[in-house]
Amino acid sequence: MTPPRTRSVIQDSVRPRFGRALVLGGAGFVGSHLCEALVTGGTAVLCVDNFLTGRPENLLDLEDSALFELREHDVSVPFDAGPVDVVFHLASAASPVDYQHYPLETLHAGSLGTESGLQIARAQGARFLLASTSEVYGDAQVHPQPEGYFGNVNPIGPRSVYDEAKRYAEALTFAYRRTYRVDTAVARIFNTYGPRMRPGDGRMVPNFVCQALAGEPLTVTGTGTQTRSLCYVSDTVAGLLALAESDQPGPVNIGNPHEQTVADVARRIAVIAGSGSAVQLIDAVADDPQRRCPDITRAREYLGWEPTVPIEEGLRTTISWFAEQARAPAPN
Ligand code: NAD
Ligand code: UDP
Repeated sequence: MTPPRTRSVIQDSVRPRFGRALVLGGAGFVGSHLCEALVTGGTAVLCVDNFLTGRPENLLDLEDSALFELREHDVSVPFDAGPVDVVFHLASAASPVDYQHYPLETLHAGSLGTESGLQIARAQGARFLLASTSEVYGDAQVHPQPEGYFGNVNPIGPRSVYDEAKRYAEALTFAYRRTYRVDTAVARIFNTYGPRMRPGDGRMVPNFVCQALAGEPLTVTGTGTQTRSLCYVSDTVAGLLALAESDQPGPVNIGNPHEQTVADVARRIAVIAGSGSAVQLIDAVADDPQRRCPDITRAREYLGWEPTVPIEEGLRTTISWFAEQARAPAPN
């Protein structure tokens, strides 16, 4: 038995305009929703993924589509994708637990993987979009974070394999733009949540939701006063598509400016899930950014994009999905 399929969370209004897209890391959480949005809008998609942290099940709804092709491959190793108009590079572990478990793979995905994608874009005359991250700002000293802020990153700490890989990936992307005139774009994605996050990926939303549904304590790190700003996945995908379809190089922050403490997120999830679970404070983690909130002025002005899904609605859909997954029979 396979787990239940996930209804699309992508709005019908999302209409990309590329003939054929290459999505690196398309079997992951954000990537699978992006593949779905592209195919829904009539774009043919080649999804390349090595399933390090992603799952082919995320793409079940696309397996019968003539517009969709899935190829298992490590993007750190150069490959031929055929003709493409756009390359989206999302291939990288993204959860702090995942990337600290796969430090070298994460560094390679950001360095060698980015160069593989850029070489394809250069050879094909395609637009290249890098899925970068708010982590390039590190434990930011400026709030909210504008794109002009250079960040405060520990270059050798436990998060450095991810933060520095993405910073290098941004530098490489801009070097290809300047040197080879590749048409590039950098999106700095802030915390995104929604259906298809792996229950065990270690990020706060899947952890809190699974704990709430199981009636277990919600494990909040440190004092719980550190903040995050959560963006629902359909909003993030719409932002990525808007950037890809524009001629902007970025970097552009893609995130929801609604800032909340982590403890408040935990309590909100417990309430929506109808759970009696209480918050339990556990040890703080090293180099945990204390305040994170995007300044999305640039996205609003250059892309006409801003998030539209309220947190209550996004969390409700996400919790329902996790509950449905928990009820589904385990795959054979
Ligand atoms: P995810 O772990 O669910 O997806 C990443 C995908 O990349 C997985 O399918 C994984 O198997 C694949 N992958 C990793 N290394 C690969 C390699 N060498 N070759 C081929 N495939 C590889 O993570 P996500 O949350 O969907 O994040 C997607 C992208 O967006 C990442 O690049 C991440 O850095 C970026 N991002 C995400 C968030 C977020 O909150 N979700 C925030 C900032 C940035
Ligand atoms: N966090 C938490 N409990 C968990 C998982 C995470 O309190 O079970 C905290 C984490 O320390 C951080 C915030 O939640 O302060 C967001 O963590 P996440 O791993 O989701 O993403 P990050 O923004 O750190 O990349």
